[in-house]
Amino acid sequence: MISAQIQTAAYLFASILFILSLGGLSSQETAKRGVWYGIVGMAIAILSTVLGDDVSGYVYIIIAIAIASLIGIIVARKVEMTAMPQLVAILHSFVGLAAVLVGFGSYIDPKAHALSGAEHTIHLVEVFIGVFIGAITFTGSIIAWGKLDGKIRSKPLLYPGRHTVNIILVIISIVLGVLFVQAEGTSGMLYLAIMTAIASFIGVMLVMAIGGADMPVVVSMLNSYSGWAAAAAGFMLGNDLLIVTGALVGSSGAILSIIMCEAMNRSFLSVIFGGFGDAPVATEGAIEGEVTSINHDEAAQLLRDAKKILIVPGYGMAVAKAQYPIYDMVQYLQSKGKEVTFGIHPVAGRLPGHMNVLLAEANVPYDIVLEMEEVNDDMDKTDVVMVIGANDIVNPGALDDASSPIYGMPVIEVWNATNVIVMKRSMATGYAGVQNPLFYKENTDMLYGDAKDSVDKINMALKS
Ligand code: NDP
Repeated sequence: MISAQIQTAAYLFASILFILSLGGLSSQETAKRGVWYGIVGMAIAILSTVLGDDVSGYVYIIIAIAIASLIGIIVARKVEMTAMPQLVAILHSFVGLAAVLVGFGSYIDPKAHALSGAEHTIHLVEVFIGVFIGAITFTGSIIAWGKLDGKIRSKPLLYPGRHTVNIILVIISIVLGVLFVQAEGTSGMLYLAIMTAIASFIGVMLVMAIGGADMPVVVSMLNSYSGWAAAAAGFMLGNDLLIVTGALVGSSGAILSIIMCEAMNRSFLSVIFGGFGDAPVATEGAIEGEVTSINHDEAAQLLRDAKKILIVPGYGMAVAKAQYPIYDMVQYLQSKGKEVTFGIHPVAGRLPGHMNVLLAEANVPYDIVLEMEEVNDDMDKTDVVMVIGANDIVNPGALDDASSPIYGMPVIEVWNATNVIVMKRSMATGYAGVQNPLFYKENTDMLYGDAKDSVDKINMALKS
């Protein structure tokens, strides 16, 4: 319906919008605009593709889009903020599955077999690589979904010789690839199918081998894989926009993974190959000291006496939806002349930027939301730290216990403040499943209960 030139122009415009979208998402002030650029870009991309010259079967397309949009709207409306990471992971799996299906589809497409010589070989290589990346993304993302949702235990599944097994599987896949490219007509289907099964297995094993503390990197890494899978599908379909979009997602996901690795002091290679080297053994029960607890009135009194207060939120704040009463408390304390800031750890919560999103939702001004390094420098001048539903990100064992699975990860060093109040429901461990010596320190007091309920009660005590 539209000419190839108009389609190319529309693709170019959509690509620019996607780049602007990524640029917008890099800061909280411009994030909303960034999302709108993305939405408009995607609408243009879908319309210009569907209206393209070589597209037919509009009835099926419209029905498919209507059903998919309905499912998307229902799921997005229903999903809790705490379940966002799982949703992102499962959406990545769809991209992987789509790349696999596009690969099989374009292999049996008669038009593709009309190609000859180098063009045909290149097409077959694109199909093979696209299906390989797609299958790893598909199954890896499903396992990531299971781990984030608590359906699969977050402990790494490590077996001896797993790296050798993975390397052998990759070599077998390469051999299958050569046979596939040499096969006449569609007789290479069996090779493609066997490789798909192998790649699916590699995806499962790669993510199963990654432990709780490294999951943030896996989430962004699968995001990157899904981009490369989409780019591969773009090559198979000869669709430039899909190639550009896939490359944007692939490279930005890879950059984010590297940033997260640096933030967690992890080697990128050891994360993607899943627990390279010896797995550390957790030293449970070896913590010295006594746990002390306080009530809401005592916590309110500590806040009244303090001049400089730091709030460190974690996953529990998201579960409790405590961000709204927390901001009420901050405003009240500020009205009493106190300096109140938030300290955000790069992997707090279950998604990169999770805490920033929640605080922005509650209208917390950006200038009091500080990064980990900034608050660590000032910790000894801080009178009270309120740790709200955080655990792993304030674990001193990450710095001084070489046997801890999170050893080496920089943390918010709250114990260097004068007083620490830890708000959580019990002595349970966090995502990485390690005990936290912070709870046993002399200057730490536990305030047990749901974070929202506790903050509500502190607010009442402060104002009474
Ligand atoms: P943690 O998972 O370490 O700890 C959260 C704590 O919140 C729990 O110990 C829990 O204790 C408490 N909690 C749960 N519900 C409530 C509630 N309603 N009220 C009060 N407390 C509650 O979270 P952190 O944010 O400290 O650390 C993030 C962890 O998640 C890291 O290990 C990180 O590697 C991992 N991760 C991060 C991702 C990211 O991209 N940010 C992605 C995937 C994993 P209790 O049950 O006693 O209340």
